[in-house]
Amino acid sequence: MAGPIAPHISTSGAPQSKGIPRVPREQHKEDGVSRMQFLLDLRRRGINDVAVLRALDEVARERFVDDRFADDAYADRALPIACGQTISQPFVVAYMTGQLDVRPEHKVLEVGTGSGYQAAVLSRLAREVVTVERYRTLADTARARLAALGYDNVDVIVGDGFAGVPERAPFDRIIVTAAAEEVPAVLTKQLADGGVMLLPLGPHGGMQYLVKLTKTAGKLARETLLAVRFVPLVPGQAREL
Ligand code: SAH
Repeated sequence: MAGPIAPHISTSGAPQSKGIPRVPREQHKEDGVSRMQFLLDLRRRGINDVAVLRALDEVARERFVDDRFADDAYADRALPIACGQTISQPFVVAYMTGQLDVRPEHKVLEVGTGSGYQAAVLSRLAREVVTVERYRTLADTARARLAALGYDNVDVIVGDGFAGVPERAPFDRIIVTAAAEEVPAVLTKQLADGGVMLLPLGPHGGMQYLVKLTKTAGKLARETLLAVRFVPLVPGQAREL
């Protein structure tokens, strides 16, 4: 899919889905060239869902990375964030967002807020995003950043993602952005019927695969997608940081 980019792909002024608040364009700090290249690269690698590309265009990734890495904000690689964690590689964010098939009426749960970037991207597509992070430092930073940038349909919660967020369940979509060795049953219980859950499965440092679970009439269908590399899903809220 290396065809020319359609002119409307990058029209950030295009109308948003009803009910999803717009955020101001001025948040982008750079000149747009590296971002255009970034969108073209995603297209070339098979990301061709216009809504997903538009969401990635709208969210200023440079606002979610440390200033030291601002020049690499649009490079296709994971970057370090606080607490020894990482902001995922843009292709993986785009791919997972596409596979999640988020619609404007959806309530989405993310486990592993990290920088808040994936949550910001999801917030452009969903009615509501609830995101849980085990490090208070990361959760507080992401919450303040998302509020400052105007993403007001995202709630950042400090806690253990293995427990999900039962008081906000059921969720139409669940995305886990850290790798578990097994599917956490608590999370699949919080998935609505007809819902989709995406998670990396596999050992820390070993082969991990992105797995997609679809719930129909209470039963889960399982599909294995890409090989990936994520930081581990660690049980419990972090005691320090
Ligand atoms: N989605 C993030 C990247 C996440 S990296 C972004 O867009 O930047 C994975 C994150 O999962 C890390 O911040 C890590 O602290 C968090 N995490 C790991 N185990 C967790 C758990 N049990 N509950 C909540 N968060 C967890």
